[in-house]
Amino acid sequence: MNIAVFSTKPYDKSYLDAFNKNYGHQLTYFESSLKKKSTKLTKGYDAVCIFVNDQIDEATLADLAENEVKLIALRCAGFNNVDLKAAKKHNIKVVRVPSYSPEAVAEHALALIMTLNRKTHKAYNRVRESNFSLNNLTGFNIFGKEVGVIGTGQIGAAFCRIMLGLGCRVSAFDIHESEELKSLGVQYKTLDMLYAQSDIISLHCPLNSKTSHLINKESLEKFKPGAMLINTSRGGLVDTTAIIEALKSHHLGYLGIDVYEQEENLFFEDLSERILQDERILRLLSFPNVLITSHQAFLTREALDQIADTVLSNISAFEANKPLVNQIS
Ligand code: NAD
Repeated sequence: MNIAVFSTKPYDKSYLDAFNKNYGHQLTYFESSLKKKSTKLTKGYDAVCIFVNDQIDEATLADLAENEVKLIALRCAGFNNVDLKAAKKHNIKVVRVPSYSPEAVAEHALALIMTLNRKTHKAYNRVRESNFSLNNLTGFNIFGKEVGVIGTGQIGAAFCRIMLGLGCRVSAFDIHESEELKSLGVQYKTLDMLYAQSDIISLHCPLNSKTSHLINKESLEKFKPGAMLINTSRGGLVDTTAIIEALKSHHLGYLGIDVYEQEENLFFEDLSERILQDERILRLLSFPNVLITSHQAFLTREALDQIADTVLSNISAFEANKPLVNQIS
């Protein structure tokens, strides 16, 4: 099939090209993202391949339909950026990569926790400048702490297993409880109990109308003072303004995020020579107890292998009129 790949980075191209030797599709790479403004690029393609910050809203979908695009193949698990109702209306199928190395994201959540806690990013810079002082580098033992996990699907479950392995008490909230996790020692609680009792809270649920701004002024007030919040899921789960206030008042002790509400204007790009206009990210960057990575939790060799293979096999299944096991409906 003739596929237009949007938001392409060098690693996307190298992994897709390598796996495409087994599939034989025609891939055309565009660095630009796919949104209403860029839909003219999709003329002549049967399918588009997109990532987390492409904006597939009603207007974009109407243009795709006019250009006779029949399939949207996501290179990710989350699909909050696609208007599924409009896709259905225009008879455009949407497929995703539901699970690719959940450990990649879960391990990145752990990396954020460890770095924030033991301040290895600060120690690295200090020692390189021959500053061997330990002042202000005090952390806490992760062992024995209570970790609250919101969303215990593929990634949340992998994260629970890691934290159990570190000797934490792991509590969780999900609309579907996992018997397997319970048998491993995970204790499901109400959200209010999880907020009040957790030393570390990690978000692993999808972004949808029910979870948008789940972490807001009211929920933050229920957090244990000094708690750590980790978000590797989607930026919109968190009300950034409320987070800034909770950090300013010292109520929130640490924040580690791999995702940010307005990330589509920032993440994945080198903006080091630009003047950033986003006041909220600038405020977040000013806190010594905040660590931000730019949506890299998925970025392991194993995950990129699985993403490329699944994307291409989803497209081949569509082309061959076979059942679309990874279709989002
Ligand atoms: P999943 O579908 O396996 O699990 C999601 C879980 O959230 C499910 O158990 C579901 O029941 C639960 N859930 C749904 N609504 C909920 C609610 N209102 N409250 C609590 N729990 C709720 O998905 P996954 O593969 O574990 O991925 C989770 C999220 O991680 C994705 O939606 C995506 O946004 C994010 N993600 C981020 C990266 C990254 O690089 N940072 C990579 C992959 C996925």
